[in-house]
Amino acid sequence: MLFKFSQIFISEESRYDEITNRILQIYRDIPVTFLKETNIQLKRLSEYPLDRGKRKLWLTHFKGRFLKPCPGTATSYRCCNYLVINETINCPIDCSYCILQDYISSPVITVYTNFETILDEINAISHANPERILRIGTGELTDSLALDPVTGLSSQIIHKISSLPNIIFELKSKTDNIVHLLDQNPARVVISWSVNPEEIVRKEEHKSASLRQRMKAAARAAENKFMIGWHFDPIIYYPEWQDGYEKLIRLMGEHVPVSQIAWISLGSFRHPPRLRDIIRQRFPETILLSAEQITGHDGKLRYIKPLRRHLYHFVADKIQKYIGDAFIYFCMESQDLWEEVLGKKPLNNQDIDFFFAESLSRRFSALNLPPPRRKIYQHPAINSNYQAPKSKKS
Ligand code: SF4
Repeated sequence: MLFKFSQIFISEESRYDEITNRILQIYRDIPVTFLKETNIQLKRLSEYPLDRGKRKLWLTHFKGRFLKPCPGTATSYRCCNYLVINETINCPIDCSYCILQDYISSPVITVYTNFETILDEINAISHANPERILRIGTGELTDSLALDPVTGLSSQIIHKISSLPNIIFELKSKTDNIVHLLDQNPARVVISWSVNPEEIVRKEEHKSASLRQRMKAAARAAENKFMIGWHFDPIIYYPEWQDGYEKLIRLMGEHVPVSQIAWISLGSFRHPPRLRDIIRQRFPETILLSAEQITGHDGKLRYIKPLRRHLYHFVADKIQKYIGDAFIYFCMESQDLWEEVLGKKPLNNQDIDFFFAESLSRRFSALNLPPPRRKIYQHPAINSNYQAPKSKKS
C-alpha cells in the first residue's frame, strides 16, 4: 500500500539526508521543489486545502526534542505515561474523526528527516532510566506504517532498541504495511492496529486498509513473533454497534492468540468542539455525530458517561469471550470507569504505568524486562537526569 503524492518539497537541511534520497528513489516521477525555510515559503505550504495538502510531502529537519510525553499525560483523565515520537506530522489516510484536521497548522505531510536525532534520544533516555520499562511509540500525529516502507524509520528504531533492554517500541497503524519489518528482530516490538467494525472502516476510515487486510497483517506479524496491540479507539456509537463490535472482536480472536497480545486499549469517540463542523463539512455522509455528547474536563466533547460505560462493558465482555484474558486499559478515561469496567484502581498515572510493566514482565518473561516498580517518578522525558542529545548533523 504505497501512498501517492503529487509534489515533494525539500528544505536545504534535508537535501542530502539518507531518508530524502530513499524517498526520491521511490517517488522518482514526482515533481520536486527545493525550498528555503522562509516565512513566505512556509506560508505557501500552509495554504493548501487539506485534501490537496495530504498529497504533498515536505521534508525538513525538526529542531527540538522528538521524544515527548503523550499529551494525554497532562489532562485530568487517567493516562498511561507513554512516550511519543513525532517524526511525521499529518497522515495520508483520511479518517473522518481524525483530530489532526483541527489540530495541525499545516495540511502538507511533513517528514523530519533528521532521524539520527531520534535514535540518539532513544539511546539517551534508555540509559538515563535503566530501572524502568519505557513504552515509546510513533503514530500519534500520523499512521506509524503509512510511510514507513518509504522512510524506513521503524527498522532503524527496531535495530537500535535490540541493544536497549528497557525499551518497548510500538507502531500503530490502519494499514497492512508490515512486509518490510518481517526480517527485523521482533523482541520488544509491538505492532498495533486501530480497529473498528467493517462498516465504520468503510464509511469513516478513508484510504485505510480493510478490516480483513489488517487482520491478515496482524496474524502474519504474530507468526513472526512480534507482540500485537489492539486499539479500540475511537469506539463509535451507531445503530448497529453491538453487532458490529461483536463480529469485529470475534474476528480478532480468530487471527491473533491472546498469548501474543501486549495490550488492548479502549477509548470512546471524543474531539475538540471545532472538529464537529470540520467533519460535517468534509464528510457530510458521516454517521459519527448522531449520539448525545457532553463537554469533558479537558474541553473535548465526548459521549455521556452512561453510554461510555455501556460501550466499554460490552466491548470488554466480548474481549473476554472471544480473545481471552488480555491486558486492557483505557485511553483518557475517568478513575470510576477504570474501577467499574476493568476492576483496576489506578490512583494516578504512575499506577497505570506500573500495571503495564507488571503485565509485560509477567506475560513476556522471555524478554527479561527490568522488574516492574511502583514509585513516584518524573516522566522520563522531563527527568532531570535526561540529557537532550546533540544531533550529529545539527
Ligand atoms: S490513521 Fe490516525 S492519523 Fe491517520 S487520518 Fe486516521 S486517525 Fe488521523
